[in-house]
Amino acid sequence: MKSLEMIAEELGFSDTSSTPTYQIKFVPEYRKYCEDNVCGNYDKLPTCPPGCGTFEQLRDKVMAYETAFVMKTLWTVEDFQDSKAFKEMKFQHNKITKELVRQAGEQGLVGHMITAGPTADTSCISAYCIDVSELAKTCNMEYFCGDNKVAFFSVFCYTAK
Ligand code: SF4
Repeated sequence: MKSLEMIAEELGFSDTSSTPTYQIKFVPEYRKYCEDNVCGNYDKLPTCPPGCGTFEQLRDKVMAYETAFVMKTLWTVEDFQDSKAFKEMKFQHNKITKELVRQAGEQGLVGHMITAGPTADTSCISAYCIDVSELAKTCNMEYFCGDNKVAFFSVFCYTAK
């Protein structure tokens, strides 16, 4: 049986770590950032607020599991105004997140997936109001990665058998 860390390394994540879900810091006020709709997805995508559920409902989905496996990819950015490039980075990040969860499922480990930005069937980490910088700190992962770098984070919540 492959560990999640081994699968993640094969898939190309730059860093991973685990933490008990009770250590995740949720900030309900972060829903305001969704409502500001800078991303343009608010009340448009079913996996975004308000359609994806209340903050409490999403928090409960996380807290239904014991452990959060946190995955990070690190990217070099040529132009921070290039939204198309950011979209592609998130797409690739979420693609390997889904592949990790698929492989975990093959090993009988099922749980709840949170992606870096919304997909057709998963919600963005922002929808959960998770304080990602605190999560990174809890996990001993770098959150700020340098001037021309950006990191994306996703989470797989599960309970070991
Ligand atoms: S969950 Fe993410 S993509 Fe959806 S509205 Fe909030 S910030 Fe935008």
